Amino acid sequence: MKNTITLLGFPRIGEKRELKFALESFWKGTIGFDELETIASDLRKRHWNLQRDSGIQKVAINDFSFYDTMLDIMVTLGATPERFSDISDPIRRYFTMARGDESHVAMEMTKWFNTNYHYLVPELHDQFVFGAVNAEKIIHEFNEAKALGLEGCIQLIGPMTFFALSKCSESVRQALFDKVIAQYVALLETLQALDAEIIIHEPSLVCDPTPHDLSLLKIAYDRLGTLAPLWVATYFEHSNEATAVLVHTPIKGLYLDFVHGEKNIESLEVLGKSDKHVSVGIINGRNVWKNDLSASLKTLNTIADYIPKERLSLSSSCSLLHVPYTLRHETTLDANVKTLLAFAEEKLTELSALSKAFFDNEEIVYQRYDPSRTDPAVQIRLSALQSGDYKRTYPFPLRQEAAHDLFDLPILPTTTIGSFPQTADIRKIRQEFKKGLISREIYEIEMKNGIRDCVEFQESIDLDVLVHGEFERNDMVEYFGEQLSGFAFSSNGWVQSYGSRCVKPPLLYGDVSRPYPMTLEWSLFAQSLTARSMKGMLTGPVTILNWSFVRDDQPRSLTSTQIALAIRDEVDDLQRSGIKMIQVDEAAFKEGYPLRREKRAEYEKWALESFLLSTAVAERDTQIHTHMCYSEFTDIIKTIEAMDADVISIETSRSGNRLLKIFAEVGYAQEVGLGVYDIHSPRIPSIEEMEKQIHALLEVLPAAQLWINPDCGLKTRGWAETKAALENMVEATKRVRQSL
Ligand code: GLN
Ligand code: ZN
Repeated sequence: MKNTITLLGFPRIGEKRELKFALESFWKGTIGFDELETIASDLRKRHWNLQRDSGIQKVAINDFSFYDTMLDIMVTLGATPERFSDISDPIRRYFTMARGDESHVAMEMTKWFNTNYHYLVPELHDQFVFGAVNAEKIIHEFNEAKALGLEGCIQLIGPMTFFALSKCSESVRQALFDKVIAQYVALLETLQALDAEIIIHEPSLVCDPTPHDLSLLKIAYDRLGTLAPLWVATYFEHSNEATAVLVHTPIKGLYLDFVHGEKNIESLEVLGKSDKHVSVGIINGRNVWKNDLSASLKTLNTIADYIPKERLSLSSSCSLLHVPYTLRHETTLDANVKTLLAFAEEKLTELSALSKAFFDNEEIVYQRYDPSRTDPAVQIRLSALQSGDYKRTYPFPLRQEAAHDLFDLPILPTTTIGSFPQTADIRKIRQEFKKGLISREIYEIEMKNGIRDCVEFQESIDLDVLVHGEFERNDMVEYFGEQLSGFAFSSNGWVQSYGSRCVKPPLLYGDVSRPYPMTLEWSLFAQSLTARSMKGMLTGPVTILNWSFVRDDQPRSLTSTQIALAIRDEVDDLQRSGIKMIQVDEAAFKEGYPLRREKRAEYEKWALESFLLSTAVAERDTQIHTHMCYSEFTDIIKTIEAMDADVISIETSRSGNRLLKIFAEVGYAQEVGLGVYDIHSPRIPSIEEMEKQIHALLEVLPAAQLWINPDCGLKTRGWAETKAALENMVEATKRVRQSL
């Protein structure tokens, strides 16, 4: 029987996050590795059986990982950094690379392209010596499937992507290219005994490859393509440049994303003339909405005009890792919302239905039904928007003058980014309230106690601008989503973020509006406790958008505008009630940038407009802050400038004055908050250390333009280290002030 569906991966964390809990028990020492492996093996079998039941003849092998597939390929290729070579037990070494221990700093982790999945970053240098290739894990999983009577396609991260995502310079890349290819050759030769098809994931090929990248690509696949029936998979965008090269290599086929890479259509002619097989990524692997099967069928038929059906198969646009597992446990979701959804399991059903319709001319099983999601009040507001709504009434210098009069702050004012430690007690109270186990009265009393202690502490160490501490928030997006119309929440819609960690993104399905103020009461209560300025704390529209599953029936820009209007209402309520300093966090602004350069300007335009729309309602003496953690600003500094925030806080504790220099270079006029203390570590920076750091930063921009703060929120820290570190931060600032 023809293989009509193939998969790039299935959510490995498990239907009920079994892998998460097993891993965490293993790390705590409550279960041994054998038990962990039994649970893992059971999950793999379940996931393969599901695939088989959906008519997938070759299940995905090696998409499983105990932590991260990038970490796995490092181990497979013998690319473990030397600094872990003192650990002889391979299992301990593996988890130490991922998580660190007393004597090893964990490997750096960063976002996988424009997703919220994080991978571990390979560490290469020009003297790097690769160890022996180790295919044990792959062979084991392949045989496991075989024992169940299943054939499998082996998933591997490819050399181009391995390099592109490694921490190494261009010269290291040059020096190591041949060696890396040699490791892949050795690996594929080892795998030959399995007689399996191999799918090499090369998503980095969609990131505007240079001619040099493409020449390396040709060299790599001319060699690798002779060693196995090899597929090269790209996703998240089109890969036309790479496709043009790959059709002239001996690979068997390509996986292309026709959901996020509509332009892949432009390669159809080239593909049709070649002998390559094409797996069409047609079901969205990045979103949770039902597929419009009739529309997909149309696309498939267009593709079939160029490429004979015998050379086509179907797939999701990328691994299903990025969507939740199943809808079966969603018993409390509104029926109107639930009918819109398809999680991983349901996407397998869609693939199967589509395959039957396309290959066997069967009837399509369902038409996607879209109930009305429109709120007339929102539509009226949208149509009344005018250019003035996107612009603050007064230019920055006049606003700055007004703020100076109103707030009367010392030079280098000190503040924090918003959240304070979320202790087990605080989390317990929130959960009990959510479950209805405690009354609203008790909940509010407890939260207010938290706020009171937090405000008292901030006063006691003499911080200049205070915050309420965000104790009522589980998450900076979920908290707002829960109060906005247009959002729904699944009960089990978890998606792996890294290692054992999962997030449950809100489902943004309808028109967004804000029925009631969301933060006002907490901020007003906090302000009532102190004579100092209390900073209101909101999450920005772009961040709410980028961290949600966003409706696909209208452009993201329009949805973003709706969220912006809701946040604008909150800004306005806060300022009218006397909260005149308001921070609108845009932690995920940078992460939403499209992978293709040609699409960036468009995103930049509407993302910027959304931020402006949410903040431009601020009066002359309302000071708008924003915060962007761990962002690179080099190519977006003009946009940052145009956001026109009165103060932006950034990270400067790890990057030193490098990021700040970018602000200086463009003559950035507004104020900048310097994140002088790294909140990711329990380490308490000394007064002297921060003092020195502030002095170094003052060489870049004048003190009159700067604030001092930690580099992000403190919610993951404990109170003891937080108190000590903030105390030192304030003291360091005072010493610097005296020296000015
Ligand atoms: N205000 C948020 C906090 O302090 C900001 C978090 C973030 O930037 N990721 O937690
Ligand atoms: Zn941050």
